Amino acid sequence: MLEEGKWYRLESAVVDQYKGMLNLKVHSGTTIREVSHEGTLKPTITPIKDLAPGVACIRGKVVQEWEATHDRILQSGMFADETGAIRFVIWKEEGRERLNTGGIYTIYYATVDDFNGRLSLTLNTATTVPEEGDIEVNTGNSLFEGAFVHLSPGSGLVRRCPVEGCNRVLSRQNYCPVHEIQPNYHYDLRIKGWLDNGEETREVLIQRGETEGLVGMSLDQAKELAENNPLGMDEVFLRFREALLGRYLSCRGREIDNRLLVSSCELLHYKPEQLADLLNRAGGSL
Ligand SMILES: [Zn+2]
Repeated sequence: MLEEGKWYRLESAVVDQYKGMLNLKVHSGTTIREVSHEGTLKPTITPIKDLAPGVACIRGKVVQEWEATHDRILQSGMFADETGAIRFVIWKEEGRERLNTGGIYTIYYATVDDFNGRLSLTLNTATTVPEEGDIEVNTGNSLFEGAFVHLSPGSGLVRRCPVEGCNRVLSRQNYCPVHEIQPNYHYDLRIKGWLDNGEETREVLIQRGETEGLVGMSLDQAKELAENNPLGMDEVFLRFREALLGRYLSCRGREIDNRLLVSSCELLHYKPEQLADLLNRAGGSL
């Protein structure tokens, strides 16, 4: 049995490739000898854009955390460096800890998987080391322009879990899927919805900074509106819908799974006949 941290010389082993991943096969004819080695192994950091299936070391920032889609997931989100971004997942496991959103990490020996042509990092095999400072990340520059045709539930004023590193949107009963009831939530604004350009639709997710500008309502104004209105947070949702439906938006950001994580967005102003034409092509789904 090979021991972790020791150095070995392997003779007559077979190295082959499966789906682009290198694979070392040790068989009955392989000789294994422990060797003395003074130096330390210096892992090479791979830029995210150059990642391939296998095992890799990367350095970057947790730029986004996604709501868990499975109860075995401890955390999932997006990890980015100067060259690109990749999704990551950490499965629930004894002793595994979550990464902080916005935190910089060096990640040693992550598993890079290929799911239908999309790369993904699994961090359960990895050692994660928090780093100081900040880095300029490439958050993507996809552009999508279209009519705003649907505002999804979970838009408007939302309550987020206050547990450090969590930040999940709470249910109406202030229930976090991981941390249960959280009465000391904090408020946030966001837009989840669909743009249609007449040929295709794109789901967009717009964070607070851009949201405030688009709907012309600050977080404080939204809170005040919810507190002083019998419909509460639903009133904010209705105002958002009124401000957005049928408007033509130009959004830039990173695209993942047909969803655009918007980093900048603006309202486009079209002549009424142009807009009517675009909305007709959008299928009259308003
Ligand atoms: Zn939580």
